[in-house]
Amino acid sequence: MARSIHTPLVYCKGIGPAKAQLLLSELGYATLEDLLGHFPFRYVDRSKFFAIDEINSDAVFFQLKGTIVGLRDEGLGPRKRLVANFTDGRGHMDLVWFRGAQVMRKLLPVGKEVVVFGKPTAYKGTFNMAHPEVELADSDKMKLGSGLKPVYSTTEKLAARALASNGLEKIIAASLAEGISEIEENLPDYILAKYRLAPRLWSVIEIHQPTDHTMLEMAIRRMKFEELFMRQLELMRLKVIQTTQSPGAVFGKVGPLFTGLYEQLPFNLTGAQKRVLKEIRADVKSGHHMNRLVQGDVGSGKTVVALLSALMAIDNGFQACLMAPTEILANQHFNSLRKMLAHMPVEVALLTGSVKTAQRKAILEKLISGEIHLLIGTHALIEPVVSFARLGLAIIDEQHRFGVAQRSELWKKATIPPHILVMTATPIPRTLAMTVYGDLDLSVIDELPPGRQVIQTIHKTDASRLWVNGFIDRQVREGRQVYIVYPLIEESEALDHKALTEGYEALIRRFEPPEFRISIVHGRVKADTRDEEMRRFVEGKTNIMVATTVIEVGVDVPNASVMIIESAERFGLSQLHQLRGRVGRGAAQSYCILMSKDGLNPDAKKRIDTMVRTTDGFQIAETDMELRGPGEVTGTKQSGLIKFKIADLVQDRPMVEAARATASDILTRDPDLQLPEHTELRQFLQSQTKSTGFWSKIS
Ligand code: ADP
Ligand code: MG
Repeated sequence: MARSIHTPLVYCKGIGPAKAQLLLSELGYATLEDLLGHFPFRYVDRSKFFAIDEINSDAVFFQLKGTIVGLRDEGLGPRKRLVANFTDGRGHMDLVWFRGAQVMRKLLPVGKEVVVFGKPTAYKGTFNMAHPEVELADSDKMKLGSGLKPVYSTTEKLAARALASNGLEKIIAASLAEGISEIEENLPDYILAKYRLAPRLWSVIEIHQPTDHTMLEMAIRRMKFEELFMRQLELMRLKVIQTTQSPGAVFGKVGPLFTGLYEQLPFNLTGAQKRVLKEIRADVKSGHHMNRLVQGDVGSGKTVVALLSALMAIDNGFQACLMAPTEILANQHFNSLRKMLAHMPVEVALLTGSVKTAQRKAILEKLISGEIHLLIGTHALIEPVVSFARLGLAIIDEQHRFGVAQRSELWKKATIPPHILVMTATPIPRTLAMTVYGDLDLSVIDELPPGRQVIQTIHKTDASRLWVNGFIDRQVREGRQVYIVYPLIEESEALDHKALTEGYEALIRRFEPPEFRISIVHGRVKADTRDEEMRRFVEGKTNIMVATTVIEVGVDVPNASVMIIESAERFGLSQLHQLRGRVGRGAAQSYCILMSKDGLNPDAKKRIDTMVRTTDGFQIAETDMELRGPGEVTGTKQSGLIKFKIADLVQDRPMVEAARATASDILTRDPDLQLPEHTELRQFLQSQTKSTGFWSKIS
């Protein structure tokens, strides 16, 4: 009898109470549906045996047939390993075990014909294979021609209880053999037809038990689309609820503060800035709640857009707040915005962790009384004790570091949730933005203010130290300021600190006052000294700033024209781009010098080459995502938003777009999925208990 997909695993064939318990505790799987959703992460083409001398790549897995003719131990200490000499009559290859050598020594069937399967490693001109699978050639599983074999991810505990990949394959196959009911189609026919997608049940079976490459591709394509589409549908539904069903404060009029600032700006806004302001303006006067992400490259002028938006709120009797990820940035925003607002009746306050108790108390009172119009600060802003009289707009600058949860904390700060404006520090790829910030509307400032010089980026190694010093010398004598940034990461903090200190001392010896004055800012410098040093640099009293990435985001010193990044190979792309963005903010030609050691690994080389080749943050973001994956790029690795079972935000970019367009189209036509053609879709979403829950509100 066909099994319902809701069958608890304990009743499924080949799964007893112990295994069911383990599947639950290790993977969170309770039902057959969960298990069938455990898709293989790759497949092995077992339809062919390769000969050792045919192996020409370390990028793919190979299946070989031959004999192990001898075992030996090699190396000492942590490098100790078991090496099996394997031959297939046409060549020899070493099979290597670094772990589990003791066990393998007993298990390996020396002298018998075996099938070896694994990924070769290029080593000293030949290939060896570390931790391959080895099975007796006559074992029944090994029949040739069985085609594509699924490989499942597992955990150590599962593997210890016969639920390694093969074990999982077995129990999944057993359930499929019994037949399954209720894997019903959840996509409407017209979508299946439009994108030529395979049916759901067929795809699930094919994914676990592929017929051939072509069919497997079709099945994977269908499941990817489904996954991306459902995610987009949820995000967009959330957006629809937030914007149409929750009221937003109405900033009806364009008032004197907005116009006043606009007219006294020392520059004309770029077309892109104007367009984005229009988009914001349309949102905040609509009566609906705004949730908008503003993306703009470094230096595209997001701050003034933020300030003008805040004035839209204040002009209409509301308060606004601006939240920055670091204290340095909050301070800087406070100072620069206060300066821009100097002659205006706008009360600005700063709230960070280091504001003293008495002053904090005064600020909190003035927030409640409504005396403070614009509050600038760090995370301290979202603490529950902070309440406003009439918060109308919350701006999150350089949001990267703020989580989605923190964003939602802001909602609680006013009876009508404040409009939310999120600004990213550097661009993130479009498909990623659509997913991580999928519940937000997207605005892009895709134009830099006119007259900006392209920053020249050069790559140098330590051998060029003298040249670099000469360069600093000349630039400072021309009146420019210079940043020198060192990496500092927790894992190697002591070492990094040593490099920083030594670098600093070498600079002091080389560059003497009065022409040269050096500031140093890093995490171990006390907060007030740090601020003081920062201030001295901003005011031009020092001309060389030695720092760690505390200055990474947002710092604005237009006279600084040289950014030197030490050990640049250790920084991520978006960090490098963000750091480079600290120069080129004034009229002078600016330079970025990437210092690295010789002999870079391919990823580091690609990062540095990309930096030298382009200054376009959107391009850099794409490369960054390719190199590091979406989780690292957004700092949302842990967030469920970018976790996909089968889809891949990097490879499946066009499909993300299609899924989003389709979801948007459906929700425009049928926001509550009430049309008969959407019944299955609605029921599917409602049945997904793990989903956000708001589908259950739809009857
Ligand atoms: P980011 O987008 O990186 O936050 P900022 O808002 O700090 O950039 O702006 C960078 C610099 O460009 C600032 O000095 C700012 O005053 C200036 N700026 C902003 N908009 C314009 C414009 N339209 N024309 C000229 N300069 C501008
Ligand atoms: Mg900024």
